Amino acid sequence: SAFALTASLAACGSSEKTIDKEARSADNSGALIGVTMPTRSSERWIADGDNLKKGLEKLGYKVDLQYAEDNIPTQVNQLENQITKGAKLLVVASIDGTTLTTQLQQAADNGIKVIAYDRLIRNSPNVDYYATFDNYKVGVQQATSLLVGLKVKNADGSEGTAKGPFNIELFAGSPDDNNATFFYNGAMSVLKPYIDRGVLKVKSGQTDFKTIAILRWDPATAQKRMEDLLTNAYRDGAKVNGVLSPYDGLSIGILSALKSNGYGTSGQPYPIVTGQDAEVASVKSILGGEQYSTIFKDTRQLAAETVKMADTVLKGGKPTVNNTKDYNNGNKVVPSQLLEPVIVTKDNVKTALVDTGYYTADKVGLK
Ligand code: BGC
Repeated sequence: SAFALTASLAACGSSEKTIDKEARSADNSGALIGVTMPTRSSERWIADGDNLKKGLEKLGYKVDLQYAEDNIPTQVNQLENQITKGAKLLVVASIDGTTLTTQLQQAADNGIKVIAYDRLIRNSPNVDYYATFDNYKVGVQQATSLLVGLKVKNADGSEGTAKGPFNIELFAGSPDDNNATFFYNGAMSVLKPYIDRGVLKVKSGQTDFKTIAILRWDPATAQKRMEDLLTNAYRDGAKVNGVLSPYDGLSIGILSALKSNGYGTSGQPYPIVTGQDAEVASVKSILGGEQYSTIFKDTRQLAAETVKMADTVLKGGKPTVNNTKDYNNGNKVVPSQLLEPVIVTKDNVKTALVDTGYYTADKVGLK
C-alpha cells in the first residue's frame, strides 16, 4: 500500500532501488515459475516434476514444466523461453551443470531467482539456492551396503566375518553431473581402505573417476562396459563378487550383462550390486534377489522443500538452509538444503518404501 511504501521509505531513507525491490516482491503472487527437468527416461524425474508442479500450483503460482530428454540445447531453449515468458523464478535440474552460465546471467539481469534442484549448476554466480540430498552420504551408503552385502561389514557398522579377497568393479555417474563426483568421493572414502588392505580387488584396475564414469547415466553404456570388463578382466575365469553402481538404471544394465555371461544361477549367483533412486524395476529386482541394494531419496520431500524455498524467495524472504560450506559451484558456495538418503535392501522395502506411502505393496510386487 501507499502507506507501507511511505513508511518504509521514511524508515530507511531509501533509494529507488528499495522501492523496486519491494514493489517486485509484493506482486509475485500468482507469478510464473519455470521448472526444467533433465529427462523422462527415469521415473524419479517424472515424480519430481509432478510434485513440484502440484506443490507450486497449490500456492497459486503458475508453472511451466519442461523435460529436455537429456539434450543440452533443448534445456537451454526451455530456459530462454521461460525467461522470455516472464518467469519470476527458475527451478532447474540441469543435464550438464556447466552449460547454463549464459542463461543464468540472462535470468539475473531480469531479476529472476534461480534454485538448483538436486544437481548443482556450476560456473555461475547466479545460483541463489540449492535443494538436494546429502550426495556425499549417498556414496558412503552405496559403498557401505556393498561391504554389508559381501559380509565384510555388518549392518550395525562393526566388522563382518568375511575377509575376502573379493573382486569388485566400480561405476560412476555422468561426469557433467556435479552429483556424480560427490557419490564417487563418498563411496571411495569407504572402499579405499579395504582396497588398500587387499580385502577388495578392483580386478580391471579401473578406479579412476573419468575411466568409470557413464555419460548421461546411460544404462546401455553401463551394460556395454560391464560386458567388456567380463570379457577382458575376467577372461581367466575369475568371478565378480561386487559392483558399485551409482544408479538403478545402470544397475539394471550391469545385471543384464552379468546374466548373459552366466551369472544369476544357483551355481553362480549375481554379485552384490548397489543402486540409487528405488526405481520400481530395481525394487522388484531387489525383492527377486538380483540387485542387492538401492538408495531411497524421497522425491516428495525434495519437492516440498523446494516449493517452500521458492515461495519464501518470491515473497522477498530468506529460506532456511542447513549447509553453507560443501557446495562450491566454482564461483561461489551456494546455500544448500540437504535431505537424508536411506539405504534399502530387501529387509526394509516394506518399512522404507511401502509404509511411508511412496509405493503401494502392489506396485513393487511385495506380498
Ligand atoms: C541424481 C540421482 C539420479 C541420477 C541419474 C543424479 O543427479 O541425484 O538421483 O540417479 O542423477 O538420473
